[in-house]
Amino acid sequence: MSDDSPRIFVAYTGGTIGMRRSADGGYAPASGYLQERMRDIPAFQEEAVPAYDVYEFDPLLDSSNMTPAHWLQIAEVIQKKWDAYDGFLVVHGTDTMAFTASALSFMLDPLDKPVVLTGSQIPLAETRNDAQGNLLTSLLLLGAYSDRLPGVYLFFDDHLYRGNRTTKVNADAFAAFASPNFSPVGRVGINVEIDWSLIPDAGGPAPTPSVVELGTASVSAFRIFPGLDPDSLRNLLSPPVQGVVLECFGSGNAPDQNDAFLAALREATDRGVVIVAVTQPLRGTADLNLYATGHALQNAGVVSGFDITTEAALAKLYYLFEQGLPPDDVRALMQKNLRGELTPPEETPAELGKTRRRLAAYR
Ligand code: ASP
Repeated sequence: MSDDSPRIFVAYTGGTIGMRRSADGGYAPASGYLQERMRDIPAFQEEAVPAYDVYEFDPLLDSSNMTPAHWLQIAEVIQKKWDAYDGFLVVHGTDTMAFTASALSFMLDPLDKPVVLTGSQIPLAETRNDAQGNLLTSLLLLGAYSDRLPGVYLFFDDHLYRGNRTTKVNADAFAAFASPNFSPVGRVGINVEIDWSLIPDAGGPAPTPSVVELGTASVSAFRIFPGLDPDSLRNLLSPPVQGVVLECFGSGNAPDQNDAFLAALREATDRGVVIVAVTQPLRGTADLNLYATGHALQNAGVVSGFDITTEAALAKLYYLFEQGLPPDDVRALMQKNLRGELTPPEETPAELGKTRRRLAAYR
C-alpha cells in the first residue's frame, strides 16, 4: 500500500455490533472484542480494505446511555485525529445512532472529509449477522471516496444516508434505518451507486473542524395526541426549558379548539421558549401555513420545522442556543437549512406546490 492510500480512523463507541453474550445470557459490550473479531475475519485483511486504526471508548456503551457529553467525546476525538486520517467511522449502537449523526452534523464544522456512522442489529460474534457487511462496506466506501464525501453519513443495510436525515424505523429487521424525506445518497448492491448530486461540495481543503459542545441548553419534545392534557404540556414548557420540538399531526396540525392548549403554547412563546412543529408521519412536511389548525399554532408563536426529523430538530435547537442567539433568531434559523437537515418550502418539489394550490382552493 502506498503512503498516500487512505487511512481510516475507527471510533468504536459500543452497541450490539461488538457485543458478546454475558454469563446471564444477555448481550453486553466487551472491551477489545470487536477488534479481535475484525483481526480474525479474513475479509477485513483484504487489500481492498483501507488501513484503519480502532480507538475504543471507555466504557463501551449501549447507545441508549448516550448523552450530549458522549457526543462531545466523539467529536473531540475526531477533531484530534483529523489531520492524520482521511475518513472517520463511528461504530455505534443503533438505538440512538440517528441522534448522534444529527448532533455531529452540527457540532463539527467545516467538514471536507467523511464521517460515517454504522452499527448492526446482530453482533459480529454471531454466525449470521449484518455486522460484517455494515462494517466492511463502510470501510470500503470511506477508502474509495474519502476525498469526495464531505459531511456526516450513516451507512446501514446497503444504504448510505445523509446522517441528519435518518431515523431508526425497525427494531427487528436489518433495514433498521430510513431517511424518509431525503433520498439515500448511496446504494450498495451489485454495484455501488452514489448520487453525487446529493453530496455537498466541500469547496476545497478546509481547516480542521471546530467543535461546538451541545447539551447545555434545555430542550425537550412533546408528541400531540387526542385528549392531551394541557397541564402536562404546560409543565414541560415551564422554565428552564428553552426549546421544544412539538410532534404534530399531519402537515403541522394540532387541536385548535383546545384553548388551554393554545394558551400554554402562547405563554411559553412569550417567555422566549422556541417551539418547533415537526410532523408525526414518517414522511412529509410540517408547514403551519397549510391548514387553519396550523395557523392556530402559528398564532401561538410556534414555527414550522418542515421535513426535519425530531432527532435533527433537537440537535439543531441545542446547537442554536449554544450560539447564544435570542429566541427570535433561533426561531428564524430553525426554518432555514443549515446542514442539509431540512427542505425549506422554496426547495420542495413541484408536487408540494400543487398541494398548496389545491388546498388554497378550499380556503
Ligand atoms: N441497544 C443497542 C444500542 O443501541 C442496540 C443496537 O446497537 O442495535 O447500543
